[in-house]
Order: sequence, then C-alpha cells, then structure tokens
Amino acid sequence: MTRIVVLIFTFIVGTLCTEQDGGKAYRIPLNDGNSIPAIGLGTFLGFDENGQKAVEKHEVEYPVTWALQAGYRMIDTASAYHNEDEVGAGVRASGIPRENVFVVTKLGSHEVRDVVNSLKKSLERLNMTYVDLYLIHNPVSHKPDGTGFDIVDYLDTWKGMEEAKKLGLAKSIGISNFNVSQIERLLANCEIKPTVLQVEVNLNLAQNKLLDYCKSKDIVVMAYTPFGSLFSNDPKTPQPRANDPVLVDLAKKYGKTVPQIVLRYLVQRGVVPIPKSVKKNRIEENVNVFDFELTKEEMETLSKFNKDYRVVFPSFWQDHPYYPFERVDVPAPDLFKKS
Ligand code: NAP
Repeated sequence: MTRIVVLIFTFIVGTLCTEQDGGKAYRIPLNDGNSIPAIGLGTFLGFDENGQKAVEKHEVEYPVTWALQAGYRMIDTASAYHNEDEVGAGVRASGIPRENVFVVTKLGSHEVRDVVNSLKKSLERLNMTYVDLYLIHNPVSHKPDGTGFDIVDYLDTWKGMEEAKKLGLAKSIGISNFNVSQIERLLANCEIKPTVLQVEVNLNLAQNKLLDYCKSKDIVVMAYTPFGSLFSNDPKTPQPRANDPVLVDLAKKYGKTVPQIVLRYLVQRGVVPIPKSVKKNRIEENVNVFDFELTKEEMETLSKFNKDYRVVFPSFWQDHPYYPFERVDVPAPDLFKKS
C-alpha cells in the first residue's frame, strides 16, 4: 500500500515538474530551494592532434537548439570550452523560454582570483543575465597568463562563488572534480553550501564512496563522461563496449539502445548524466530514458562493470597541492599545453 502511494506521489510530482518546464526529465531538488533537471547536454568538444578542439561556427549552437527542442532542459558549458557564445545562441534559437532552461557554466582554473568578474564575462558571452548553476571547474588553479600553477585556496575562491550567488548572477553554486576531503573542508568553512558536485561517473567508475558522501550532505552529483569507454577504440580501456552482450540483451528487453541503458542506469543511481553529442539523432536518443525502469537485479549486474577507472585523468596536474585524484609514478603528457 505504502509503495503504491509513493509511486502515485512520484508520478504526480514528476508530471508536475515535467510540465513546469516542458522537458522530458523530472527535476531533482537542490539544497538551496532550486531544482535541477535529471539529465543535461554536455558541450565539450574534446581534443584533437592540436590540443583542445577549436569550435566551428554553429558546431555547438545547433546541438543546443536540437537538444532543447528534443526535451532537454539543461545545458552544461564552461569558460574553458570556449563555446559559451554558441550555447547562448542555441538557447535563444530554440524558442524555449530562458526561465525553463537550466544553464550551467564553470569558473576556469585561471579565473579563480576574480570570480564575480569572470562570471560576468561568461554571462556576456552567453548573452544572459544569470546562470542557473556556476561551478568551480577544478580545485587546481593556473596563472591567468598561462605560465603554470597558481596556488589559490579553493576556500577563498568559494567566497567569490558565494558573492556571485548573493548578487543573483548565479542561482545556485557548486563544485567540480573535488574529492571527499576537499568537500569536507569546504563544508566546514563555507557560508553557503555547494548544491552540486560534477565528477566523472560511468559504468567503469562507480564512485560509490563519493556518491554516498554527497547523498549524506544533500549534494546532487552530476555525472560527466557518462559513457566512459563504451565507444573507445583503445584496447587498453576497460570493458564493456557498446556491443557487450549484457548491455545488448537489456537494450533488446526494453526496446532501447545500449547508450540509453547506460544513461538510465546512471539516472536510477540518482546522478544527473550530461551526455555530449553533436549529432541530432543521438541527442534525441539520449534524452529518452524516462519511460522504463531497470530492475534491482539489473542494476546490480551493471554495477559489476566498475573498475575504478578514470577516462578523465589529468595526472599532469598532480604536483598541484589541491590535485583531487590519485597520484601516479609517471604523469601523462599535458594536452592543455597545446591549446
Ligand atoms: P560522453 O558524453 O560520455 O561521450 C561523448 C562521446 O559519445 C562523443 O564522442 C559522442 O559522439 C558519443 N556519443 C554520444 N551519444 C552517443 C550515442 N547515443 N551513440 C553513440 N555515440 C554517442 O563524454 P564527455 O563529452 O567527456 O562528457 C560529457 C560532458 O561532460 C562534456 O561534454 C562536458 O560538458 C562535461 N565534462 C565535464 C568535465 C569537468 O571537468 N567538469 C570533464 C569532462 C566532461 P558525437 O558527438 O559524435 O555524437
């Protein structure tokens, strides 16, 4: 009986939330009274042989418009992606009212000494008066002139984030790539709590400890690189690939695709995936994960793919005192140096 009441309540809340912003995803409450859509579009174009890939005209704008028209209501960008102008243009071209779109951007690692002005510059590029969520991109900081690390305590940066929220330039504030001890230190020393942590979560990187910790502190986790190495051509990266029999069988059972199964798995873990695609059909595919439910046993089966393996592993930053991940003997070459 209780279960039926809970199901009806969840359905009504979900329907109301969906209808409120016209999107396909329900919204998850944040600890500051705002709410975040349960899925978003990623917009980072990645790297090519020359370093960070340059953004061609309309290359991000069109996907943003397609996404909003397909039922996404959240777009993830960052000052470091050099595409905020395209994101803003895509939001406007979609015809979806600004107040129904949840726009996330991030403070660059070279901007940490001047948070409010950096956000104002992001807003100029977006051509918006506020963002819904502003994140510290990384606890690691760099000098603005590109000459190497800058050692800035993220507690000082956070004061600027709090100021940005008080000024109404960011409706909510949060962090990205912080580890548990860094979040603990921030919570012990902040005036306004972070609402969201954005980190890598996927089949190969379950992040169980971090997710449990964030849940206990009422911090919502956004999952970047949600596909992990699902589409990788590198034999050294862990399984599964998109043709894995376990995933293919689940996709057949639910009449879904393998990427949809993977995204649904993350949604049911209570994290907010932000899959990136620049292809219209894939963008439409990735948002359609709210009309089926994996069983408890299927969730357990999928959890066994965990290998604690990071796709995004910037070990070339590991000499910075606030580097958040495991340190290794031989750091990887720095891709960002070429950009
Ligand atoms: P991802 O979303 O896991 O994977 C993107 C890749 O999957 C692209 O190559 C895309 O190709 C392909 N793809 C997408 N949907 C597909 C589908 N249905 N079928 C087949 N292939 C598909 O990886 P990500 O871009 O690293 O992460 C997502 C977003 O998270 C980023 O864009 C960015 O917004 C954010 N992020 C944040 C941080 C941080 O430090 N906070 C770090 C990394 C990423 P096509 O585009 O060609 O479709």
